[in-house]
Amino acid sequence: MSRYQVINPATEQVAGTVEQVDAEATDAAIARAHAAWPGWRAVAPADRARLLRRFAEAVDAHVEELAALEVAGAGHTLGNARWEAGNVRDVLTYYSAAPERLFGKQIPVAGGLDVTFAEPIGVVGVIVPWNFPMPIAGWGFAPALAAGCTVVLKPAELTPLTAIRLGELALEAGIPADVFQVLPGKGSVVGQRLVDHPLVRKIVFTGSTEVGTRLAAQAMSQVKRVTLELGGKSANVIFADSDLEKAAATAPYGVFDNAGQDCCARSRILVEASVYDRFLELLEPAVQGVTVTSPDRADAEMGPLISAAHRESVRSYVEDANEPVDIAFRGSAPEGPGFWYPPTVVLPRSAQDAVWREEVFGPVVAVMPFRDEAEAIELANDTEYGLSGSIWTRDVGRALRVARGIESGNLSVNSHSSVRYATPFGGFKQSGLGRELGPDALAAFTEVKNVFIATD
Ligand code: NAD
Repeated sequence: MSRYQVINPATEQVAGTVEQVDAEATDAAIARAHAAWPGWRAVAPADRARLLRRFAEAVDAHVEELAALEVAGAGHTLGNARWEAGNVRDVLTYYSAAPERLFGKQIPVAGGLDVTFAEPIGVVGVIVPWNFPMPIAGWGFAPALAAGCTVVLKPAELTPLTAIRLGELALEAGIPADVFQVLPGKGSVVGQRLVDHPLVRKIVFTGSTEVGTRLAAQAMSQVKRVTLELGGKSANVIFADSDLEKAAATAPYGVFDNAGQDCCARSRILVEASVYDRFLELLEPAVQGVTVTSPDRADAEMGPLISAAHRESVRSYVEDANEPVDIAFRGSAPEGPGFWYPPTVVLPRSAQDAVWREEVFGPVVAVMPFRDEAEAIELANDTEYGLSGSIWTRDVGRALRVARGIESGNLSVNSHSSVRYATPFGGFKQSGLGRELGPDALAAFTEVKNVFIATD
């Protein structure tokens, strides 16, 4: 055990202290999760459903408390943090319907009856990044618990507070001991044990492509199942026939939400050449209108970055003297303590610039013109990522052609939404493997078992 201080990114004051667990304690938790599994999978479907609904109700009763913890411990705006706690409740409620609907198939065969069962996979390790601590945890643990798995969850080092509280609320709601455990600790210790331990049958990992690919290769040595939700460099494609005012007014929120620390951030804006100048004219006041302020204020639209080190990394993409980029315009950010960085719009010199190609994970957006529909698709796809994206046009045919042409898991037309708990979420290419949320996520936590019963 070692003590870890969580820092409030808006004030640089200590927001809380947690005990980080070591490898031995991780092994013990995995053993307990394994021992708890037969009991949990044997809970009658309607009772498991009831327990998940009670867990959802407990989260609902503590939305304000959880939101305040996320504001203090992660710098999320109050509005976002309330939505995030509400999302955990909604995802639990959605999957509480699953235990009674884990259907198999009856398949016509000769000489007997053939049926399939969706069997729970066992102990699931859920490894969470710091950018959306609550929702990303919930997308893993809710369907896993519903499927009859037990869960060991590792929050990110920087943001463990809400996950720890969710673990307590689960117990208070009646989820049996050891069915859902939260282990704060280092990725290289707790996370690595979850990957290496043979009794963990599945890893749900959300984080960087670098760590995710390494971890998946290690998991494969045990044929351990993995779901990966990794990085993104999504395009916001704006055609001349779109509602340009609306496209410009909303573009900042499609990338600067959560200070750009969003895997779905539309951090590349592609604009049809004929309206490029006009779009930038409209974008400037929209960017300057983003309210960047103390995240505990009800009117805050953007807060600080997560840490000083991360701010340095974001800054280097824009202000590195060796490779300065052309800053078109910027919004504002508070002075004084806190890891603040203003919303920034840059004009890359070419599609090879780092700021155009790499995931900055901060409030920086790059804008580039395109000639026609074919070039828009080509530029949007010129990346190893493929998570999200937006298409702005009034032409329904074009919207569908471009949506089918972009290699990405989650696209929205004339909107910037990526996440709905009832619809699948995940990435193409190096943005991930598998899908979370929606009706099919349960397949990631179950194995199909086929049973033939002879009638002769
Ligand atoms: P990260 O990869 O550094 O860490 C993610 C988690 O993995 C943390 O809990 C960390 O402790 C753990 N970890 C680190 N090393 C490990 C190891 N060797 N074994 C096991 N676990 C280990 O990512 P981050 O900086 O916390 O998050 C930012 C990244 O997450 C961005 O790239 C972002 O795009 C991505 N992300 C993706 C999605 C998505 O759904 N696709 C959502 C949110 C964030």
